[in-house]
Amino acid sequence: MILALNWKMQLLPSQAGPWAERLAELSSNWPAGLELALFAPFTHLSALAAALRGSRVALGAQDLSAEQFGAHTGDVAAEMLADLGCSQVLVGHSERRSEHAESDRLIGRKLARARSAGLLPLLCLGEPWEVRQRGGQLEYSLAQLEAALEVAGEGPLRLAYEPVWAIGTGKSCHPEDAAQVSLALKRRLPGAAVLYGGSVNAANLAQFLRPELDGALVGGASLKLEQVAEMAALCG
Ligand code: PEP
Repeated sequence: MILALNWKMQLLPSQAGPWAERLAELSSNWPAGLELALFAPFTHLSALAAALRGSRVALGAQDLSAEQFGAHTGDVAAEMLADLGCSQVLVGHSERRSEHAESDRLIGRKLARARSAGLLPLLCLGEPWEVRQRGGQLEYSLAQLEAALEVAGEGPLRLAYEPVWAIGTGKSCHPEDAAQVSLALKRRLPGAAVLYGGSVNAANLAQFLRPELDGALVGGASLKLEQVAEMAALCG
């Protein structure tokens, strides 16, 4: 089971190290089959890499540039993340798609860049509410995946099914619906891990621990260590 924590744009860099040291300490007693990853803002990664070194928690960034080294002011290259100690990266989170107008093509290029630097990409997919209302979630998520693969080709990849209307709203997806989307994604990409994300917390995680899903991507609830510890205990 995979528990992926997305801090979004929260906490200060000076708070990140002590938080992660505690996470590393606690996690040494968590279930053996649990895989943990923490996705944090760029500014926090250095402190987190030091705090998590030698622990079972993988470090990831929340985004990366689609470009190689060069004149790209404000961007962060995949190789820079790998050099800092990241092994994973989120790609195509719905907040990147909506707030930064990231297209499927750009997301596909980011996937390819991540892979070329040895980072494992966690591609986020999921439909807006109007699509869900007409029952188009399977087709929508598959089309997002297809568009990214068309650019990036085959290679190491994890997926997170995150319906846009469920992110940060307290309104999680029905577990059966999440399972159906996961199965469709797995049919397209056999062997890929598929996580569910969207208002997951310690009170509802158990519903998503089912054979069709490989874990959860947790946003808001990932900022509270007690919540993370409770969720980890459920993953035994
Ligand atoms: C996320 O940021 O990917 C997410 C799922 O957020 P939340 O858990 O807060 O809905």
